[in-house]
Amino acid sequence: MIEVIVASRCDSCSRCVDVCPSNVFDFDTQGRPQIARQADCQSCYLCELYCSADALYVGPDCEQPEGITEAQALASGTLGQYRRHSGWGEWAGHYRNLQWRMGEVFQRARKT
Ligand code: SF4
Ligand code: SF4
Repeated sequence: MIEVIVASRCDSCSRCVDVCPSNVFDFDTQGRPQIARQADCQSCYLCELYCSADALYVGPDCEQPEGITEAQALASGTLGQYRRHSGWGEWAGHYRNLQWRMGEVFQRARKT
């Protein structure tokens, strides 16, 4: 579940708002994204994937928040991890994008 937007990192590019399939974000009066409907988050990580500022913390549990603070999120070293490990954007060539292999996993699951 989306939990933190690190304001000091966010450059208000609005990509997270555009890609979120669950319409979780709203803009504040300054044009910065705010978490408006947290319970609607599916932990799909699309917002993290598209955030080149590594400003978002998304926890894996889509049922309930972990209660992590901004300071804890910054100290965790996990901000932007999904983007990094997906070989997305500036990380292309540094990490192999293995997301496409999920097709194999689903295929195997159908056979069992
Ligand atoms: S994608 Fe990242 S930098 Fe852009 S508006 Fe969202 S949180 Fe801010
Ligand atoms: S993890 Fe997915 S559903 Fe949750 S806020 Fe980000 S884009 Fe929206």
